[in-house]
Amino acid sequence: MTSHATTSHAFATTGDHCPFMPVFGPPQVMFVRGAGTELWDDSGRRYLDFLCGLAVTSLGHSHPAVTAAICEQAGTLMHVSNLFANPVATETARLVDEVVGAAAGAGGQVFFCNSGAEANETALKLARKFGGRGRHVVVSALGSFHGRTRATLAATGQPAKHEPFQPMPDGFRNVAWDDIDALANAVDPTVSAVIIEAVQGEGGVNPASVEYFQGIRALCDERGLLMIVDEVQTGFARTGRWFGFEHYGVQPDVVTLAKGLGNGFPIGACWARREVAAVFEPGDHGSTYSGTAIATAAARAVITEMRRIDAPLLARERGARLRAGLEAIPAVLDVRGLGLLLAAELGPGVDAKAVYTELLARGLVTNAVTPTAIRLAPPITVTEAEIDEAVALIAEVLA
Ligand code: PLP
Repeated sequence: MTSHATTSHAFATTGDHCPFMPVFGPPQVMFVRGAGTELWDDSGRRYLDFLCGLAVTSLGHSHPAVTAAICEQAGTLMHVSNLFANPVATETARLVDEVVGAAAGAGGQVFFCNSGAEANETALKLARKFGGRGRHVVVSALGSFHGRTRATLAATGQPAKHEPFQPMPDGFRNVAWDDIDALANAVDPTVSAVIIEAVQGEGGVNPASVEYFQGIRALCDERGLLMIVDEVQTGFARTGRWFGFEHYGVQPDVVTLAKGLGNGFPIGACWARREVAAVFEPGDHGSTYSGTAIATAAARAVITEMRRIDAPLLARERGARLRAGLEAIPAVLDVRGLGLLLAAELGPGVDAKAVYTELLARGLVTNAVTPTAIRLAPPITVTEAEIDEAVALIAEVLA
């Protein structure tokens, strides 16, 4: 393998010439091409992508079926407003309802949008309308991540991210993660919903315990609350089931989706049980780009391909191989997560950022999800040989 860039920035991120707002750290590599699990930078060096653009390109880069669907749709019809129907969005909404509904045990309806944050905004507005005036509070967990818009940031249980933007919008309570008593204590008559991840992705790849997830469902049933499950990172086969909540034998009322749904083409979706979705009336919500033909063509191709290859089974099998490989590395203290959403815990005293930088220098893309853990989220189509290559690189760096 050729040597790779370590600290050579793709471009300056400060000063007059940077075209981007300074909200991201300095990028270390300029990627120009991708195929499957592989990426190439602007000097022609090859990398293995075990991050997938933060759990987005689950079918791998430039998947031929998704690329063909986008190209064909671009030459047929890209967009009409929501004053009119288009056949692709209609078919894709039915497909999403089929897949989510089968897991959630209910028929539902779908609102398409462009991102995970927008999917969660939709769910939060739905919860407000469902609860009615005076019953507008949504409870979420500390360590969660639900997006960067003001409402989804308030739902995100990370006080440091709130700080620069105080005061936060009201109507949100963040309580201890995986603690059903803390959640129950936060519920009063002003609460309409709980929003929760099955595995906290950005929070460090922390799977919920079965008792916690089932406890939330029971609490929601008892108090008449909506259970909103944020499947933006865990959804569409990443955890080895179509949706993370399926690991818990729990059926939510509202499910939010994005990332893997478009395999890189921006699309999000909020699904709700039919009787919950029915609280929305014309004019309550919308987006210029809701259900645009081009984005839904990408999503339709993703779902069709994931069904064809049995993506959940593949994620379980490949995930088991990756987990076993990581567990065999002496410096890895613990491996957590589900399917192909994993974190290798390196323990105190190890700087995960330095490990990430060294892995990147050797051609493996990961990320430091906490100060001491590396997140691994390769494509579901990752080969066994690629898994073995990545594990060998990690072992080499940690040695
Ligand atoms: N929810 C979860 C669980 C996420 O992991 C993310 C992004 O990482 C979001 C919501 C926000 O999605 P987006 O960045 O597409 O707005």
